Amino acid sequence: METRDFIRLEDTYGAHNYKPLDVVISKGEGVWVWDVDGKRYMDCLSAYSAVNQGHCHPRILKALVEQAQKLTLTSRAFRNDQLPLLEKELCELTGYDMVLPMNSGAEAVETALKAVRKWGYTVKGVEDDRAEIIVCSGNFHGRTIAVVSFSSEPQYKAAFGPLTPGFAMVPYGDAAALEEAITPHTVACMIEPIQGEGGVVVPPKGYLQQVRQICTRHNVLLVADEIQTGLGRTGRLFACEWENVRPDVMVIGKALSGGFYPVSAVLASREVLDVFRPGDHGSTFGGNPLGCAVARAALRVLVEEGLVERSEELGNYFMGRLARIESEHVKEVRGRGLLIGVELKKEAGGARRFCEALQERGLLCKETHHTVIRFAPPLVVTKEELDWALEQIEPVLMMP
Ligand SMILES: *Cc1c(COP(=O)(O)O)cnc(C)c1O
Repeated sequence: METRDFIRLEDTYGAHNYKPLDVVISKGEGVWVWDVDGKRYMDCLSAYSAVNQGHCHPRILKALVEQAQKLTLTSRAFRNDQLPLLEKELCELTGYDMVLPMNSGAEAVETALKAVRKWGYTVKGVEDDRAEIIVCSGNFHGRTIAVVSFSSEPQYKAAFGPLTPGFAMVPYGDAAALEEAITPHTVACMIEPIQGEGGVVVPPKGYLQQVRQICTRHNVLLVADEIQTGLGRTGRLFACEWENVRPDVMVIGKALSGGFYPVSAVLASREVLDVFRPGDHGSTFGGNPLGCAVARAALRVLVEEGLVERSEELGNYFMGRLARIESEHVKEVRGRGLLIGVELKKEAGGARRFCEALQERGLLCKETHHTVIRFAPPLVVTKEELDWALEQIEPVLMMP
């Protein structure tokens, strides 16, 4: 079978909810992937930051294989010998009191929403069924009905109604608007410290700190969705650390498993996560021993290989070099660590054609919001590999 055969099969039998680049990948190692013709590409998306540790990291692979040979799933009707260890290690690494494991990011977001609503009713004393949660325009928190209900992207929710009530939207980066939106029914405010899908949008300096203070002042929980920004991507374990902000609830996923398996989690204080009673919430696969063993290995790799520090150092280097490319198409280069967005001017004709030209030269990137090229290679990337990438990027940005 050739590339076009795979594409034809997928287009015939698969729902068309994505429009992928026409590259059919069959192998990955570190920052590199190979297509079915054997052509090699550098992965500059890292599966939306799920493969921060690099493709098929040998230590995570070993943990996966060893655990898969022993025990994969018990459901949480019974206990398993991996979940408690992951929970302890996550709490020790992050300083939170408790963990609730799920699978996909969207499920962890839903879990956080349930937790803060129940906290609102049982701890804060909000009137029954009146809880409000404040979110930001340009947000991306996943694709479930409740989550798309508060998206500002019309396509994400058009024709999927009726939508879920209980959410208020304020402009991202505007702390005063957030404070004004707080009512006696507000239980939480949920933010991304950098909006990844929104186009690598970095809020104004001091914003996260102001949001933290406002939430504290009004007894409103601060929920950070660090599914994409967390676990080293921005050069800190969590992007909130850039402003020394400690959210009450932290949502993680993606790189929590290094791309091997869907593992997500909600981290919070005992006051928040202790609202759940047996039967309140659950997931057949959430906290399964295979996912937990993989996540434990993925976290060890992150820490022991110094990937967080590496992301800061190489991110500074990469972003500096990108910013020095004198292209008439570039409006702005922004980001933190190895989460970098190159925003193109309107006249550039969209980011897609640049991504296709980069694909020709062996770099896989994905445009976000039509005008932004996101560069987010696995954190195991070397300086030499980034230099090679820059040699490809420069001529593409200089195209007419
Ligand atoms: C990817 C992402 C999600 C959703 O995660 P899924 O695993 O795709 O459900 C939620 N929030 C943010 C910030 C994300 O980047």
